[in-house]
Amino acid sequence: MDRDPILLTPGPLTTTLRTKLAMLKDWGSWDSDFNAVTARLRAQLLDIVNGHETHVVVPLQGSGTFSVEAAVATVVPREGHVLVLDNGAYCKRAAKLTQMMGRRASVLAFAEDEPVSAPALAARLAEDASITHVVLIHCETGTGVENPLADVAAVCERHGKGLIVDAMSSFGALPIDARTMRFDALVAASGKCLEGVPGMGFVFVRKAVIEASAGNSQSLAMDLHDQHVYMERTGQWRFTPPTHVMVALAEAVAQFIEEGGQPARLARYRDNCATLIAGLSALGLQPFLRPEVQAPIIVTVHAPDHPAYDFKRFYAAAKARGFILYPGKLTEVETFRVGCIGAIGRNEMQQAVNAMGEALRELGLPAG
Ligand SMILES: *Cc1c(COP(=O)(O)O)cnc(C)c1O
Repeated sequence: MDRDPILLTPGPLTTTLRTKLAMLKDWGSWDSDFNAVTARLRAQLLDIVNGHETHVVVPLQGSGTFSVEAAVATVVPREGHVLVLDNGAYCKRAAKLTQMMGRRASVLAFAEDEPVSAPALAARLAEDASITHVVLIHCETGTGVENPLADVAAVCERHGKGLIVDAMSSFGALPIDARTMRFDALVAASGKCLEGVPGMGFVFVRKAVIEASAGNSQSLAMDLHDQHVYMERTGQWRFTPPTHVMVALAEAVAQFIEEGGQPARLARYRDNCATLIAGLSALGLQPFLRPEVQAPIIVTVHAPDHPAYDFKRFYAAAKARGFILYPGKLTEVETFRVGCIGAIGRNEMQQAVNAMGEALRELGLPAG
């Protein structure tokens, strides 16, 4: 097929030609033209969360996890105690990196097919005064479940606890408003719902928190306070910036704004998700989550209960038709995942469903 395959994955994802073309230019990291791109992008990112009054945004090189790690290392003092709300794989990753950063980490566990519970968090905070910070994964990409950010933020505010949000797979699509949701740090990345290419993250940090965070980080490269101070002073990144990733993200954000910003993006992804779920259901495939808790980001699907089914062969047959699927991440049930995000719309989702149907039939399964 004479096009790149459509990526039905939660990043990297399918980008527009305009975003790809933005990378065909070399930039000097010290040059004022590149510094202007960085400054404009930082302002636009703050616009998206209405954060100019309350927060700064600090970009960081690397994949999204680098920024989660940096947020924990920068925001949580070394003697801090972090409670991770756990309903999936990315929560477990956050707990692990918190521990590896040398911070005390506790976990409040929930079922994988349900959102975490703000009342349960309140009860835990009431009984353990040593907890200083809470980590929430906004959309748990391991299953696709949406967690209640506003409710969790309200509980943390009421109990005077810091909140660190991994909004990697939700930022730009689900509503996030710094004026109504109080968070110390919120982490996102270039290659998810903003539809840029992967390679950098960015962290919104409450102004009072970044100012008080000097010396917290035990890592030089991951120190967001240092990155922030240097960037404010010089307009430049502290170490070599991912120049091509940055300009691609700037171009992607320009298109995000032209499309109508977060509400428009959410509407397109909702339509993608609904088209996908209806199509899968016609093929006899069932989503893992009930609809009320499903975020329109990524859908976990029960594997067909049939001896001829094999994910690797299914994947290869879908790929031959131009669509890249994603493996499941659950240990108890056999599943696969299909992303709804990226520069794709209803037509591509319909074609993806057709391709999955043909792939199943090629494996000898009944499909629809
Ligand atoms: C994508 C993602 C990350 C970051 O993963 P990387 O592979 O490091 O980019 C972190 N948290 C969530 C919820 C994600 O979806």
